[in-house]
Amino acid sequence: LSTEEQAVLEEIEEKNVDFLRLQFTDILGTVKNVSVPADQAEKAFTEGIYFDGSSIEGYVRIQESDMRLVPDPSTFAILPWRSRDEIDGGNSARLICDVHDTSTDEPFVGDPRGVLKDALDRAAEMGYTVNAAPEPEFFLFEEDEKGRATTETNDAGGYFDLAPKDLASDVRRDIIYGLEEMDFDIEASHHEVAEGQHEINFTYDDALSTADNVATFRAVVRAIAAEHDLHATFMPKPIPRINGSGMHTHISLFEDGENAFHDEDDEFNLSETAHSFIAGVLEHAPALAAVTNPTVNSYKRLVPGYEAPVYVAWSDRNRSALIRKPAARVPAASRIEARFPDPSCNPYLAFAALIHAGLDGIENDLECPDPVRENIYEFDEQKREEYGISTLPTNLGEAVDELEDDEVVLDALGPHIAEKFVEAKRSEFQDYLVDVSDWELDRYLEKF
Ligand code: GLN
Ligand code: MG
Ligand code: MG
Ligand code: MG
Repeated sequence: LSTEEQAVLEEIEEKNVDFLRLQFTDILGTVKNVSVPADQAEKAFTEGIYFDGSSIEGYVRIQESDMRLVPDPSTFAILPWRSRDEIDGGNSARLICDVHDTSTDEPFVGDPRGVLKDALDRAAEMGYTVNAAPEPEFFLFEEDEKGRATTETNDAGGYFDLAPKDLASDVRRDIIYGLEEMDFDIEASHHEVAEGQHEINFTYDDALSTADNVATFRAVVRAIAAEHDLHATFMPKPIPRINGSGMHTHISLFEDGENAFHDEDDEFNLSETAHSFIAGVLEHAPALAAVTNPTVNSYKRLVPGYEAPVYVAWSDRNRSALIRKPAARVPAASRIEARFPDPSCNPYLAFAALIHAGLDGIENDLECPDPVRENIYEFDEQKREEYGISTLPTNLGEAVDELEDDEVVLDALGPHIAEKFVEAKRSEFQDYLVDVSDWELDRYLEKF
């Protein structure tokens, strides 16, 4: 055992851990668990834990279904909400795992975490480490008598409102305690623009840890909201005609311990490297959307007027652009903010795709357009054309078309995941197309 693995075993002993949840995600980003008694921890580290991959979304065909979970000891954490009310006082803990193929013992090509590791390996070959920080937004809704989620909010607060209007601040405080117990470093939390909508920001980390954190974050928020009889949702646009939930993602590259995105002499304090990275993300944005905005509902958020991006442009000022350059107080903080991702994405795949797109910009020296400083929502088509501004796909079907035409983003996912992902998303969109919505019934049922 490595010293890190040894330390986990000691902590299991010390903290009276009875059960270990071994976690990984399917291609859609749903967290899967295999629970083992804590005395299996040593075996999990030395041999891995075998499971049947054929029942996991997008993993393997039935005849090649044996997979092995390889726990990453750096991800050990006690699950506070599982542990509080255990009858025998024992704790539950989790370990995030890589998935290996038992026939080759190589990392499994269908493991999203492995896909992100590949992206970080490519960055490392180019001399970079990648930092990322997300700003996940979510809604808190009341449950009905049967405990099912409604779209009734439990408060009527607005942006940065304080109690008593922000009734949910109690819940948010408990969520933050839960996150802190799981070693999150919380930077800020606030009520978002919409009623019932919240945002909690945690400190940036390397992109892999951040993707792990996003998966954990969603689980903690949902679990603790449920303790308050509330349903937390990361659905991008649960209520029409008010703001939806985004997951702005801040990214920077470091080279030899220095921020490779910073340049003192540039008018935006952004280096050539940063400009090329932006150019790469803009170039591939329509295909990226399929990964960063992967649901039918994602495209209900990406419409003009609700602080979500629609137009493929960047800006150092306004928030209607796809990429914004946030103000940075110190050189180390120079970064870009991708504003299009939403929290329904698989964070591993979304970060991997964003990173590959940016690295493609660097590798091919893509030309970065000028920033757009006006409110692009107010541009008409002619003005957008003048500025060379294209738009994001308007629905999931278009996004998948774009993905299928973009070798860089397809390569980012790898052939296995790309194929399964396209198949799953095509079928999701087809299912949506054949449905008849309430909007249609309201509009047409009595009129015709
Ligand atoms: N909710 C907005 C979005 O959909 C963002 C609002 C904000 O953070 N200022 O991206
Ligand atoms: Mg924010
Ligand atoms: Mg926000
Ligand atoms: Mg932001």
